[in-house]
Amino acid sequence: SSQLLAGKRGLIMGLANDKSIAWGIAKALSGAGAELAFSYMGDALKKRVMPLAEQLGSEIVLPCDVGDEASIDALFEALKEKWGELDFIVHAIGFSDKNELRGRYVDTSRANFTLSMDISVYSFTAVMQRAEKMMSEGSAALTLTYYGAEKVMPHYNVMGVAKAALEASVRYLAEDLGKDGIRVNAISAGPIKTLAASGIGDFRYIMKWNEYNSPLRRNVTIEDVGNSALYLLSDLGAGVTGEVLHVDAGYHAVGMKAVDAPDI
Ligand code: NAD
Repeated sequence: SSQLLAGKRGLIMGLANDKSIAWGIAKALSGAGAELAFSYMGDALKKRVMPLAEQLGSEIVLPCDVGDEASIDALFEALKEKWGELDFIVHAIGFSDKNELRGRYVDTSRANFTLSMDISVYSFTAVMQRAEKMMSEGSAALTLTYYGAEKVMPHYNVMGVAKAALEASVRYLAEDLGKDGIRVNAISAGPIKTLAASGIGDFRYIMKWNEYNSPLRRNVTIEDVGNSALYLLSDLGAGVTGEVLHVDAGYHAVGMKAVDAPDI
């Protein structure tokens, strides 16, 4: 991964702590020579995000609640002032009421359906509306999705519906921005123990199931996701847009429980 992103500047949205997928991606991009800016949600996370950003030599750490248009505008105005242009953006943000990430999908409330779609889906489009103006030929964007968009996974519920919409929005954004040479892709990551994931019911069981039944017989790490993000965001991925890349140890390719999988 020598210096694939030397001289490139990018914004990482969704860093909460050193377990975050955003952190795995930030480390890989920084290791490839990129200069990074970070946005975080809420004052409570600031003290966690600051030292991580510092570790990667980043001086730009800004607040942004993607549920608030004015907050997104303020982020991009500040970024425009500092950098002018933007080579890449990582959207590693999702939210749903954890009380609805267990039990039945059919019981989803209108309020949480709307909230989940707003924060987990629309926010990527809202961000790209601003980012587009700072981007040019060769720029790229990345969001994070999950297999629950394609198939029913236990407890994923309304987030599965949201991720399906997010994946569709990746394709529409790829078409709109492709005319200016801007690429838009998603990584569909296997289950990883993060703050957001801890809200999902029976998450340890889901991790075990994936470990025993994926072709690689293991779970993926934030470093695995980071390295694939580097491919998609650098010129190695120059011919790739509108894509959902599975970084899941191959789990999506399998149709049945492995015969050697232990009982869990
Ligand atoms: P995480 O908790 O570390 O990150 C989620 C981030 O979303 C946090 O930084 C949080 O502050 C941010 N966020 C929530 N609401 C926000 C708002 N209104 N404005 C701005 N930021 C907000 O967890 P993660 O697992 O690293 O999640 C990152 C992305 O990866 C999410 O889209 C998630 O759905 C996706 N993903 C996770 C897994 C997994 O198993 N962990 C698998 C596939 C996809």
